Amino acid sequence: MGSRTEHFVDGHARGIPVSPGIAIGPAYLYAKVSFEVEERKLEEDVLGKELERFEEAVKKAERDLNKISSITREKLGENRAAIFEAQLLMLRDESLYPEVVSFIQKQAVNAGFAVKTVMSRHRRIMEASDNEYLRERANDLLDIQERIIRHLRRGRILSAVDENSIVISENLTAADIILFSRRGILGCATDFGGPTSHVSIMARALHVPAVVSTHGLTHQIKTGDLVILDGIKGDVIVNPDAKTLSHYKTKLKRYQRLIQEDRSLVPLPAETLDGYKVQLQANLELIDELPQLKEYGAEGIGLYRTEMALLMQGKVLVTEEEQFGQYREVVKATSPHSTTFRILDLGGDKMLPMGAREHNPFLGWRGIRIMLDKKELLIPQLRAMLRASAYGPTRILLPMVTSIGEIRLFKQILAETIADLEKEGVEIDKNIPIGTMVEVPSVALAADQFAKETDFFSIGTNDLTQYTLAVDRGNDLVADLYDELHPAVLQLIQLTTKAAKKAGIPVSLCGELATNLRAVPVLLGLGIDTFSASPIYLPGIKRVIRAMKLAEGQELARRALQAADPDEFRTYVDKWLEEHACGVSFFLEGK
Ligand code: PEP
Ligand code: MG
Repeated sequence: MGSRTEHFVDGHARGIPVSPGIAIGPAYLYAKVSFEVEERKLEEDVLGKELERFEEAVKKAERDLNKISSITREKLGENRAAIFEAQLLMLRDESLYPEVVSFIQKQAVNAGFAVKTVMSRHRRIMEASDNEYLRERANDLLDIQERIIRHLRRGRILSAVDENSIVISENLTAADIILFSRRGILGCATDFGGPTSHVSIMARALHVPAVVSTHGLTHQIKTGDLVILDGIKGDVIVNPDAKTLSHYKTKLKRYQRLIQEDRSLVPLPAETLDGYKVQLQANLELIDELPQLKEYGAEGIGLYRTEMALLMQGKVLVTEEEQFGQYREVVKATSPHSTTFRILDLGGDKMLPMGAREHNPFLGWRGIRIMLDKKELLIPQLRAMLRASAYGPTRILLPMVTSIGEIRLFKQILAETIADLEKEGVEIDKNIPIGTMVEVPSVALAADQFAKETDFFSIGTNDLTQYTLAVDRGNDLVADLYDELHPAVLQLIQLTTKAAKKAGIPVSLCGELATNLRAVPVLLGLGIDTFSASPIYLPGIKRVIRAMKLAEGQELARRALQAADPDEFRTYVDKWLEEHACGVSFFLEGK
């Protein structure tokens, strides 16, 4: 890529990969036909007719959404269909529908103008919200608005998308991706959106390779351009030269073969050639994802991020009962394996209670710091987790710990909460293990002391890397400095595993580094024997583990720790992986 501020260089855009896979094919530039709606003043005597037209358009939108919802239910199950059920409810929402009706009546205007005015106003409020979930749901409202307006204009709902094309669009809705996938598109890329937007979740579930947040790619491309979309790395290459094209064609074939092979690995153990056993667990954040535990062979949940469930509800305070309902479902589905719930990790780039603003949020009020200050958040969540622990093995994990005092204070609150529940006669696991996230260098450096205070460690390399290297993990401008294989990061991992071993407590690694196949043998060598990652990556990790011996990992770790230049080490380990015929080398571009 070019300089740090350029996003499209030499026909190459980089976005966020949200659904793995590789697609090569013609671009289809999908521009939503947004109908311009002009204000038209109407005579009193035709207002009744206009209201009927509005109601008719809403009914048609309901028919569309019912159809999309039933396709989704059939293809992806009840949970996913919920998105469209929610849109159906929005259509008749008591603060929207009557407002449009009254706007038509009071202003004596056409229905299209009323729909646009009222819904845009609601959308702007959602877009300005601090809540990521609400901001993303603003897209649902736009989808509804356009659907009704198109019906008012008797327009077509979906412009024809060619089969075997790669859809490039500013934004897509969950409905778009469902209908497109039925038409057999090869992949999609959008200028906007994040990993938790509906389109990303749907694309993963439908196995459509996807890249989001491509920063204006739609302005650089036209329908029919040849596109390579790499949903593993997040690259989109427009009109590639012959060499790049042939490289990616080979890559695509290998990817397809690997996916087949990966499937056959699911029932096999994650064990090195010399019999060293590794545990592979899942990082999850949504109940919808529970079926993936079996699909990808996860032995439990190593990290359940609880922020998402709150964001889905669009509010910070979810009741104990609501949380308990979810946690119980998760524990039951994961049992007999264990579920590791992390208490809320708010702050940083995630929302803050009461919309507090900070100049330097990643060094500010975050994770356990907030939870110890806000008992009204911590106690209901703890009670819900403890109650869920009666249904299967459960552990609690503390994010963003920096000092032992925080763990001690947490344990005091936990003991009081346990005592309350026992008094109430509620069944719980009162010896529930409490773990510490190792995300800040202070914890790794003093791991010996921390190991005495905690039942297990979980190394969060996403944050550990940013705090060790002083590189904001979400900042494009310095992304090239974010290096998880930096010897300093690896040393901190080693300090942690050594301390854990000495104290006899388990340690796992749950950051994205676990999915970096180049790092897997090194991590084994550093003493990691439990990996937790998004389930889709587990078979690939297993493939590497099954192709190596522990001593080889130890030798690679020794080299990595001493590497003056991590890039040199990368070249070395790539060659090693190639020789060991893991067939993974093409996953290894970049860092
Ligand atoms: C991490 O920091 O590595 C981690 C797993 O936590 P999160 O990505 O949720 O901050
Ligand atoms: Mg973290």
